[in-house]
Amino acid sequence: MTVASPNFSDGCMIALYPPPALAQQLAVEGGLPAEELHVTVAYLGDADHVDGDVLRDAVAELAARRPFTAQLAGLARFTGGDKDVLVALVDSPDLEDLRRDTLDALHERGIEIPRGHGFTAHCSLIYLNLDEPAPLDRLDAQPIEFTALSAVHGLDRIDSPLAHPMDAVAREAFAAGWALSGGPMTRRVQVACETAVHLATEATDDPDILKATIDLGKLEGMWALLFQRRQEQQDRHTASVNALWRDLVARDGIAAMVDRLRWQLGVHEADGPDRSGIRAAALAAAKAMLAVLADLAGFTTVRIALRNAIAAGRAEGMVNAVAIAAERANRIGLDWNIAFTDAYAAMERLDELWGDAGGWLGRMVDGVADDLGRTLASGMEDGLSRDELIDAAADILTGDSDAVAFTVDWAMTTAADEGALALYQSEGVQLIDIITAGDGRVCGSCIDAETGSPWRVGDQPRMPLHPNCRCCYAADVSLAHFASWFT
Ligand SMILES: [Zn+2]
Repeated sequence: MTVASPNFSDGCMIALYPPPALAQQLAVEGGLPAEELHVTVAYLGDADHVDGDVLRDAVAELAARRPFTAQLAGLARFTGGDKDVLVALVDSPDLEDLRRDTLDALHERGIEIPRGHGFTAHCSLIYLNLDEPAPLDRLDAQPIEFTALSAVHGLDRIDSPLAHPMDAVAREAFAAGWALSGGPMTRRVQVACETAVHLATEATDDPDILKATIDLGKLEGMWALLFQRRQEQQDRHTASVNALWRDLVARDGIAAMVDRLRWQLGVHEADGPDRSGIRAAALAAAKAMLAVLADLAGFTTVRIALRNAIAAGRAEGMVNAVAIAAERANRIGLDWNIAFTDAYAAMERLDELWGDAGGWLGRMVDGVADDLGRTLASGMEDGLSRDELIDAAADILTGDSDAVAFTVDWAMTTAADEGALALYQSEGVQLIDIITAGDGRVCGSCIDAETGSPWRVGDQPRMPLHPNCRCCYAADVSLAHFASWFT
């Protein structure tokens, strides 16, 4: 029969509590409840004899250390008292350091702990009568993470999160750098902050570490701003091209196309055409329909919208190039909006953009034709009715088209990379880096391009290396030519 656990509710101690999920797993039936499982660092005796404020003050000081992971290293059965106690053994040099520092911190505060026992780090699981068998005879080794140190005074428990003293300082340094950049707070910036803080706590001896942390904050903020601006522009121009594109397509045109296709494929006949016949006919019908659109007046407005998207991409790429160069030169104060307006205005006279727009528009039409042809073919194969086919075709032509978004994204990214390259070239840059965006969309070729940096200008790979690429050129330029872009 299991005996009740002794009541320590009037004692006090400094202790570590395992994560709740692990505590649940460790708790044994009839033993200490999961929420009471702990590793005592120092037992101080009767709570009446220890000032709670002094205890909590000591714990707050002791918590200025990194969270650590100890090892659960099996079971032991402590004997020699009124009852035996089955414990999980806890092994960790960090825990030994903590114990030593705890004794020092308490001693400084005039608290001496009872000297009845040495220190065997453990987590009590269950009290047993002397003749009672243990409910388990083996515990697998596993890590146990401690993220807080607790001051327990009678029934009162206060947890202090473990954090290296450098942690808060480094966090502030990173935030200061980020604020200087004017960039948004994104998930990526948060992750970078954690990494930078971790690096800083591991390099506390380096006198320049806080400066380096500020720089990291600035760099991450700059990239966050750069990607945010690009995304906003992509979204705006995609929406605008899409809207104009949708206006081109009339519902009766779609119906006529579907009717022609159905007639041509003879859907009323028992032995209809084979699959390849359907696909070829559907693609031809889609192309024919889109060719008609090309003759409509509205088609030119789509081309203008694409031209504007390319101009914006190119201008943004030039601003990005200067922002990256400014970051490398540790120069702050770039006014991205002024710079963009200026760079965009310079696009006015650039006739080549019209040719680019025509080329991208051709790809866009081909992309939509492919999507439409595929949709019509699978609709015919699946035996959709006339109205269902018309709806499916209308979805492709008048919904938010994937082909349009894909093309605008690719065109603007290409324009941005060309804009950056052109700016660096006109500034006489000889060596150019390629930097991957590190956002999960990086393909192997981009990593190779980054690894191969710096490149001699002209020999470098032509960015973007893949659709949706966010990787960038980077180089040093004299910022004197861009003084009007800085505040
Ligand atoms: Zn890339």
